[in-house]
Amino acid sequence: NLYNQIQDLKGTIRVYCRVRPFLGGQSNGESTVDYIGENGDMMIVNPLKQGKDSRRVFSFNKVFGTAVTQEQIYADTQPLVRSVLDGYNVCIFAYGQTGSGKTYTMSGPDLTNEETWGVNYRALRDLFHITKERTNAIKYEVYVQMIEIYNEQVRDLLVIDASNRRLDIRNNSQLNGLNVPDAFIVPVTCTQDVLDLMRIGQKNRAVGATALNVRSSRSHSVLTVHVRGVELVSNSILRGCLHLVDLAGSERVDKSEAVGERLKEAQYINRSLSALGDVISALAQKSPHIPYRNSKLTQVLQDSLGGHAKTLMFVHINPEVNAIGETISTLKFAERVA
Ligand code: ADP
Ligand code: MG
Repeated sequence: NLYNQIQDLKGTIRVYCRVRPFLGGQSNGESTVDYIGENGDMMIVNPLKQGKDSRRVFSFNKVFGTAVTQEQIYADTQPLVRSVLDGYNVCIFAYGQTGSGKTYTMSGPDLTNEETWGVNYRALRDLFHITKERTNAIKYEVYVQMIEIYNEQVRDLLVIDASNRRLDIRNNSQLNGLNVPDAFIVPVTCTQDVLDLMRIGQKNRAVGATALNVRSSRSHSVLTVHVRGVELVSNSILRGCLHLVDLAGSERVDKSEAVGERLKEAQYINRSLSALGDVISALAQKSPHIPYRNSKLTQVLQDSLGGHAKTLMFVHINPEVNAIGETISTLKFAERVA
C-alpha cells in the first residue's frame, strides 16, 4: 500500500555508526566519544581544540556504543536482509579507517565461533532459515559471488587465478544485479557452504599480496548474495540481491610520505570512496543525475543503489584520541550520505 511505499522510499538510505572498543580494555577516560544519545545522536570531543569548538554532535539513524554485541548489530540489520527475499536489492557497507572494526562488523573476528559472527554469516544463516520456512509457498535458490576491487580492477575471489584476470562490469537492468557476469557464481544451501567459500575467498585475497591485512585494507571486497524465488501458486519469479561490502580503509594517506604503489593505491581508494559518497548523497537528495560511472564500485552496485533498492552504511570509528582526525572525517562523510 501507499503508506508502505512511502516508508520504503523514506528509509532507503540508513546510516549506523559503530564505535570500536578500546583494544586494551581501558580508555583511561580518553575517549573522543563523549556520549551516545537515545535517538542516534553522539557527541564527539576533539582534544586538539578548545572550548565550544571542541565539541560537536553528529546524528545518524542509530549509534552503537562499544558494548553492543554482534547479535544486537544484526537485529537492526535483519529487516533489510530479509527484504531481499521479497525481491529488493540491498547494499550494506562497512566504512571507516583501517582498524576501526569494518571486518569485525561484516565477518567477525573468528569464524569458528558463531557468537562472534558478523553480518555476512548471520545474514546468510537468516536467509536460509526463512527460505525453509516459506518452502511451501516459494521455492528459493541462493547463489553467491565474491569479488575484490583493487586499484579499480575487479578480481574474482572464488577462483584461483594466476593470470590475475580482470573482470568486466555490465550494466544492464535485465541482469538483476548480476553485474559481474563472468565472476564465478556458486549455489549455496547452508551456512557451511558459505563458510567454505569465504575461506577460499580469503585465501585468494592473499594471493599476490605481500601481507593479507595490507591488501585487505587497500581493496573493497564485495560478497553478493543472489536470490531467485518461484512462487508455487502463480509461478511468478522474484529476484533480489544483497551486496555485503567491506570497503578499503578510508584514512587519508600523507602525500609527502606515500610514493609509488602506495600513492597510486591511496588515490584509487580516495577516488572510489568519494564516488560512492557522491552517488549515495545524490540518491538521498533525489538528484536527477546519479554519477554511477565514476568508479568500478558504484558500477558494480549500480542497480542495487537507488530505485527501489535499500542501502545501509555502517560507519566505524576508533575512539582513541590519536584517531580524532580520521574520526571527524569519517563522521563528516557519513553525515553527507545520511
Ligand atoms: P578494519 O577491518 O576496519 O581494519 P578490524 O575489524 O580488523 O578493522 O578491527 C581491528 C581490531 O579491532 C581487530 O583486532 C578486531 O578484532 C578488533 N575489533 C573491532 N571491532 C571490535 C568490536 N566491536 N569488539 C571487539 N573487538 C573489535
Ligand atoms: Mg578489515
